[in-house]
Amino acid sequence: MAKSYWEFKSLVRHSDSRTEVIELKPELLGRVGFYTRALEKAKKSSMANPQFSLYFVKESIGSEGRFLPAGNIEYGFCSALHGEETAIAAFVSHYGSSRGKLKNVVLGIIAGNPGNVASPCGNCRDIMLETLGSDFEIVSGAAEGGIAVVSSMSDYMFSDFSSVALKTILVLLKENILATTTEGEKLMNDAYGPLDIHPERRYHVCIITAMGKYFGARDVFSEYHPIYALHDAVRQARRVKDPFMRHVIIVREDLADVPPHVMYKDRQHLYELNLQAELLSGKNQDPPVYLVSVKRDFEISGIWRTSVKEWLPLPFGPHNFGNDFMRHLADYYHKKHMN
Ligand SMILES: [Zn+2]
Repeated sequence: MAKSYWEFKSLVRHSDSRTEVIELKPELLGRVGFYTRALEKAKKSSMANPQFSLYFVKESIGSEGRFLPAGNIEYGFCSALHGEETAIAAFVSHYGSSRGKLKNVVLGIIAGNPGNVASPCGNCRDIMLETLGSDFEIVSGAAEGGIAVVSSMSDYMFSDFSSVALKTILVLLKENILATTTEGEKLMNDAYGPLDIHPERRYHVCIITAMGKYFGARDVFSEYHPIYALHDAVRQARRVKDPFMRHVIIVREDLADVPPHVMYKDRQHLYELNLQAELLSGKNQDPPVYLVSVKRDFEISGIWRTSVKEWLPLPFGPHNFGNDFMRHLADYYHKKHMN
């Protein structure tokens, strides 16, 4: 058999969230032909139409049978269907809605230099999780061959939140938790969301900085492109040039004793607000995020702690576009904050 153009390795995520690229796991050796087909199809994809970003995303998706090409389609103003979104649409069109039924699903991504691991954005994680679950594989490889990395969708997910003893945290947070619920109810615009579908995805938020509190609630429109609650709060903080968050509170709307499910798209927006603060202050920070459930009469029933970085492993961000882009972004924020 001819040697593969790519040398496949495995990604592992350790319990402290660190990731490492290791030799391809022995149980995956028989799948090299499959990974190669995924990357070959991605490499040949001509779907990308990146009129704003000039960033040609080349992807493919397939299962036991055919691999289908995918890529980014940009439109409007800096809006895009991402490669993963077009991949999901192509996959469902070809294979049907098949979460959990089709095995061996692989998403192939041409991802810059050899050894790079692709980082789907938060919104793409949401649609992939919904459609394919978290067991399928993502293969990242360079167009010119070399090291290609096999990861699992589960490497990009995080829901292992640690529970916090109520007594220790309530003094600090109680007032703001209750305010998050009452302000969130006032701010929310949601005439369309069916109450019985995914109640765990309904939540109100508050971003707390040294200067202020920014409450957020979802704004749902009839065309189903809502603004989620964290995004709503992030916009307020950005408008008053105050991205310097101390901590974040997220309160579930319904009465259940488990944490809210915060969409990855929303985690993505919070991550980028934090990056803005880091670029302005020159200091890295990872503020805590408190996930809260309440019982009737505003009685708090559970608090879980994570952080802006912990719950978005392998984040997508401006760093994916290189150091020049990061310098441009830092200059942009510094100039904006001086005015
Ligand atoms: Zn995306």
